[in-house]
Amino acid sequence: MNEQKSFQDNSLGSLFLVPTPIGNLEDMTIRAINTLKEVDLIAAEDTRNTGILLSHFEVSTKQTSFHEHNKAEKIPELINKMQAGMKIAQVSDAGTPSISDPGKELVQAAIEAGIAVVPLPGATASTTALIASGLVPQPFYFYGFLARKGKQRTEEITDLSNRSETSIIYESPFRVLKTLVDLKEIMGSNRQIVTARELTKIHEAFVRGSIEEVESWFMEHEPKGEFVIMISGKDDTSIMELTDEQIKLRVQQLIDDGQKPKEAIKEVALLIQRPKNEIYDIYHEL
Ligand code: SAM
Repeated sequence: MNEQKSFQDNSLGSLFLVPTPIGNLEDMTIRAINTLKEVDLIAAEDTRNTGILLSHFEVSTKQTSFHEHNKAEKIPELINKMQAGMKIAQVSDAGTPSISDPGKELVQAAIEAGIAVVPLPGATASTTALIASGLVPQPFYFYGFLARKGKQRTEEITDLSNRSETSIIYESPFRVLKTLVDLKEIMGSNRQIVTARELTKIHEAFVRGSIEEVESWFMEHEPKGEFVIMISGKDDTSIMELTDEQIKLRVQQLIDDGQKPKEAIKEVALLIQRPKNEIYDIYHEL
């Protein structure tokens, strides 16, 4: 066992894990830009995609491709370069490397080779969605993508169904409805869920309610863009303990955001699992 310092002055290179925006270029950090400028090489999931980002931020560092399909041959090559003293940054197409994206095997190989692995904080869809979900934020369970079909998918959803933490899954717009149908089948209609789409982009939007309600919503409104789905924990059906003052504030915020008072009261009632008339009375101070 030993402690590995991220910033060490030796002849070995380093591996920098650099998050990129999940839609909004302003989410690129100053440190991420500087790191990409300073390293010797950028290992990118898609060099064309990253090329657009690099030219936007005037980064001229050379790229090499590194993705799921070439990782077996690329990892030894990249490790050799870092052993020879190169600094390499790894980026994925969007968000944080290794999070439902390429990276983990390269990180493991670098650790084994004694190369410093330096993580940069930055954009990621899961926690960005979670903090605005209104569901209990911790503990949470990040699952990523569900298996597409079969027994494994059923087992995964059953496992999520039995969890007491808030669960987070990633989904493509083409599969959102199918996933909601499958969640309903295993978890029942009433489990509280939240979908977050197009985070950080102009069409960012959240839908909150029971699985049944969210499913009906998407039957009427075609799912568009990238999605995070969050599922409340089993026991708490995600009941947030809100004071009367917080309840009033939440209803008021929704009204200020353009909802009708009746809808705002309904949404807050659903969120905290209390009858609508109670929320009505609290809001109107009756
Ligand atoms: N590495 C990324 C991260 O840190 O979040 C995740 C990459 S994974 C290949 C892509 C999935 O992340 C999408 O299918 C979607 O579920 C989610 N995602 C990425 N960007 C998003 C966004 N702007 N809004 C909502 N979900 C997003």
